Amino acid sequence: MTTPLMVRIDGKRDDLIQLTQDLIRIPTLNPPGENYGAICDFLNKRLQTSGFETQLIRAFDTPGDSERYPRWNIIARRDGTSLGDCVHFNSHTDVVEVGSGWTVDPFGGEIADGNIYGRGACDMKGGLASSIIAAEAFIEQYPDFSGAIEISGTADEESGGYGGVAYLAEHGHFSPEKVQHVIIPEPLQKDRICLGHRGGWWAEIETKGEIAHGSMPFLGDCAVRHMGAVIHEFEDKLFPIMAARRTDMPVVPEGAKSSTMNINSIHGGQKEQSDDFTGLPAHCVPDSCRIVIDRRFLVEEPLDQVRNEVTDLLEGLRETRTDFEYELTELNSVLPSMTDKTAPVVETVAQAIEDVMGKAPEYVASPGTYDQKHIDRIGKLKNCIAYGPGILEMAHKPDEYIGINDMLDSAKVMGASLETLLLPRKN
Ligand SMILES: [Zn+2]
Repeated sequence: MTTPLMVRIDGKRDDLIQLTQDLIRIPTLNPPGENYGAICDFLNKRLQTSGFETQLIRAFDTPGDSERYPRWNIIARRDGTSLGDCVHFNSHTDVVEVGSGWTVDPFGGEIADGNIYGRGACDMKGGLASSIIAAEAFIEQYPDFSGAIEISGTADEESGGYGGVAYLAEHGHFSPEKVQHVIIPEPLQKDRICLGHRGGWWAEIETKGEIAHGSMPFLGDCAVRHMGAVIHEFEDKLFPIMAARRTDMPVVPEGAKSSTMNINSIHGGQKEQSDDFTGLPAHCVPDSCRIVIDRRFLVEEPLDQVRNEVTDLLEGLRETRTDFEYELTELNSVLPSMTDKTAPVVETVAQAIEDVMGKAPEYVASPGTYDQKHIDRIGKLKNCIAYGPGILEMAHKPDEYIGINDMLDSAKVMGASLETLLLPRKN
């Protein structure tokens, strides 16, 4: 199916390419959070030229915010000529570290074989560019639309979103009175709708021991051996239970439909020495061992249960194992988020995918979290999805790229969704 709006979006192909390249060429690395000001200035000029009213908002005193690395965000709003719903496109502007293995300039925005290359091309500057082109084309086509379109560029999604969407939600920018529909153009593929994500719980566990001479370990108490017992309990009891749980959430890939837990670090005993250390290892029994666990959980699992499963296991060891002492420090937690399939934004985008691509959408949920959590929990706005161009597996990889045709198709789906949500009904 081809509509006048789709023809107009096709006509903006060169503009879309240029915009995506311009965004990639601003290296917004996080950490530490570079160039948020520069990318907000760029978006500010662009969106003001297209008739948006803009607000630049610094998330003062959020994690990482400093005079050197200020957490700048932009919200741009364009009101129609009559009252109606507000559709908000939210994109994070930060990108992760470059890493090794690149064969192109990570901030060059080079084009080859119909793809644009660069760190953040897919996650998610391509999605941001698609939403801007969709909104601009829609406004040109229907200057008398009703309601409003908002486009935000926000900081720090890659480090939790506290200086970005969380901050804006805390300051009322995502309240259901103000915003009715949210689309986050994360790279979930142009024919998929992402309804939400699993939860996460992060904690550090320390086992305690007693220092003694390494030649007489029986005079001390080895904290590493206690940690070995903890990991053994995880292997024996917790992992099989978690693997057996299956969620009704449409999480991809398949393995993430179960509960998972990663042990992301372990350290015990004397400090790790630097490469130029010339001494010998200390002859000591370690009095401390620490691990960090990264537990991802399903919408069917309450956070209390997730927590209790680990503490029950540790308490069990305290009863059965001589001199077992531990400390558990919770580092962070994020609840799962899941938008209903019958929510208006879901039904609208689903129909738009059918209209543009001639096929029914696939519904998915993300194994990891993204900014939907803040819109849902802080903003209390449930009508939110992730929908955007790009392949999720490409995110954070070397030679990251975004397909130009995929961006155009996604922009058409976003444009068709605006037609449904912001044009007066025909009947
Ligand atoms: Zn992302």
